[in-house]
Amino acid sequence: MKRLVILGGGESGVGTAILGKKKGYDVFVSDFGKIKNNYKEVLNQYGINWEDEKHTEELILNADLVMKSPGIPDKASIITKLIANRISVISEIEFAYKYTHAITIGITGSNGKTTTTLLTYHLLKEGGLNVGIAGNIGKSFAWQVAEDDFDVYVLELSSFQLDGIVNYKPHIAIITNISPDHLDRYNYDYGLYIGSKFRITMNQTENDYLIYDDDDEAILNWFKNNKTKAQTLPFSLKHHVEQGSYLENKTLYNTTNNKQITMSTSNISLDGMHNVKNAMAATTIAQLMNIRKKTIRESLANFQGVEHRLEKVLKIQNVQYINDSKATNVNATYYALESMETPTIWIVGGVDKGNDYSELIALVNEKVKAIICLGVDNKKIIDSFNNIVDIMVETSSMEQAVIVAQKIAEKGETVLLSPACASFDLFENYEDRGNKFKNAVKGL
Ligand code: ADP
Repeated sequence: MKRLVILGGGESGVGTAILGKKKGYDVFVSDFGKIKNNYKEVLNQYGINWEDEKHTEELILNADLVMKSPGIPDKASIITKLIANRISVISEIEFAYKYTHAITIGITGSNGKTTTTLLTYHLLKEGGLNVGIAGNIGKSFAWQVAEDDFDVYVLELSSFQLDGIVNYKPHIAIITNISPDHLDRYNYDYGLYIGSKFRITMNQTENDYLIYDDDDEAILNWFKNNKTKAQTLPFSLKHHVEQGSYLENKTLYNTTNNKQITMSTSNISLDGMHNVKNAMAATTIAQLMNIRKKTIRESLANFQGVEHRLEKVLKIQNVQYINDSKATNVNATYYALESMETPTIWIVGGVDKGNDYSELIALVNEKVKAIICLGVDNKKIIDSFNNIVDIMVETSSMEQAVIVAQKIAEKGETVLLSPACASFDLFENYEDRGNKFKNAVKGL
């Protein structure tokens, strides 16, 4: 019996354990932190051995194969020991794909993964396919492969998950865009991070497809020095493309395998130019999967949007409050500000991951009436914008930030939470930050 050791007893770890057990492995789960009670119960139910708050080396270094949760960095000492022992360390996706005949659609990128994944899932489901959704979303891929029977999976893939693939290839790969993020995990080397995203196409063949943002500098640079075997289907807001999608006169044009579809961008339920790009990617996938044009159009028009991503919360005294707490980097906030159609009171700040605010200056100048800083250290934000914005206020809690925003906002204006930073200084995570914002707005 081969021994499968799983490091990390979270969603992907437990899913892999269940699948491994079903496939006849001797499975052991080890988590250096605490495993949540509900996951412990599941492991017990399946008769899977586990430990938490430690890594017992004798029980780990005897593995034939190791699955590492994407949250564990390669630098962790247990990983370096495994590598020194030449034990192969893979990701959940690599482990699970071998056990399914389903078509997989892999979606990666710095921003827009979740939105594009959910939108694609919506289009394919409305189109009548037997489709599952996994990756960073919901029930893990391995768990679904073990227990469900889908024909198609839409997978949201982070660069960490892609780092752990060896042979996995999606039939359809999407790179939504690339901008600096998570560089702490890549030795502060942007090239390594870009390379990691492009692993999504490394095993693709001529029968597969790669969909990508043709306006993205990092992506275009990669193509100067590298090749993919997959058929390419780019999307662009700026120029015409033969195969793929482009924008002209506020209309989205898509040609995929000589099938054409056009649609006014005003029919897309999601706001903002970034969402036109996400819609382009999802439309291309839907075309490849032979979804009817009418269904594609209707589904793009009725998609409900995703919580914490430019989410409209409430209008109070004709001031619109928008929750974009998921904007944890400058690029995401760029698109949020770009989509603002009224003077904006902008709530920004948190843990800065090496932000360069200069690319926001023109937009802030044009759209932002006041800046409300909400972070422990706001110096960089103040230094970057105090010459352009007249009103700048520092706050230390969400309630305070929202109350100040309400005082400043006048009829017809917008209050936007789009922090451009991680949330860990004042909040548990971006969901907690977004929920506190929504509660504070509802309490006004
Ligand atoms: P991810 O899963 O990659 O983090 P999300 O869909 O959760 O992406 O969106 C994260 C943030 O980026 C949100 O603030 C959202 O409004 C913004 N965003 C969504 N799509 C794009 C895009 N194509 N380009 C830039 N920003 C985007």
